[in-house]
Amino acid sequence: MEVDEAASALLARIGSLRQHQIKGKRSPHKPLLVLLALGQMAATGSSEVPWSLAEQKLAELISEFGTPRRTGAAQGAAYPFTRLQADGIWVLDRDVPMDQVGPLRQHQVTGRLERSFEDLLRARPALLEEAARRLVTSQFPDTVAPDVLVAVGLDPALLHAWRDADHTGRGTAALRRRSQVWRTSVLQAWDRQCAFCGFDGQIGGATVGIDAAHVRWFAFDGPDSLDNGLALCTLHHKLFDLGAVGLTAELTIQVSTMFTARTSTGRQVYELHGRELTRRTGTAPPAHAHVTWHTTQVFKGKPLSV
Ligand SMILES: [Zn+2]
Repeated sequence: MEVDEAASALLARIGSLRQHQIKGKRSPHKPLLVLLALGQMAATGSSEVPWSLAEQKLAELISEFGTPRRTGAAQGAAYPFTRLQADGIWVLDRDVPMDQVGPLRQHQVTGRLERSFEDLLRARPALLEEAARRLVTSQFPDTVAPDVLVAVGLDPALLHAWRDADHTGRGTAALRRRSQVWRTSVLQAWDRQCAFCGFDGQIGGATVGIDAAHVRWFAFDGPDSLDNGLALCTLHHKLFDLGAVGLTAELTIQVSTMFTARTSTGRQVYELHGRELTRRTGTAPPAHAHVTWHTTQVFKGKPLSV
């Protein structure tokens, strides 16, 4: 995609949302609101997000993909809905006090992307996709980014278009190249089996369904080092990245009360709770600092038992 002056101004504003990261703390609330607005834009041609939609939908997005919750759901949505105005890409149809749910409900406030940006995005769908790609990959790992896009009504295929199109290596940390060497050494160190459940499937000698997972996310300066890697089956990788499963300081597995399942197969996840990591002699466990990052920034809710 050709990036002219107006487009690069828009992408810079979107990119600056990432700068709110302080010492690796996640703050996905504003990016989730922008993604929701981009999804509305793609679906309806207007980025308008009425508070009634934000209160329900944005709160759901924050609950599913956000950081461990410290406030009520509506309150969590009111924060980005009012504060995103200061970033120069978002406007509300009336003045309201910051962070307060009451006035947003009472006046049925509607927010939208700033008019000139909205016009630009309407005229250039490729730019909308580029903005969504940059935003989602700067905030979420590969396991979760496609789900975020689906949840806001955007096509997850746009992630692949980005990979195909980008040959320049410029841009944000999200463009840092994935190290294949790291992946191979993590799988080897963990004996090509899931550190949580021990799954070790192969097809014709090739490992299948097992990923090298970053404990501290790649997009949040998680290093490609052995003490930041776990071999996890694709299911447990996803649950780990969604914060449904985590690790305690003692490196036992903990399962969040937010995860529920109805069938005995689904409930096998509960049985991971309290287990030690499956690792062979000599394999270094994840470093304490990376585990702490995951526990404070990703793990959701409360563990099954304390
Ligand atoms: Zn597993």
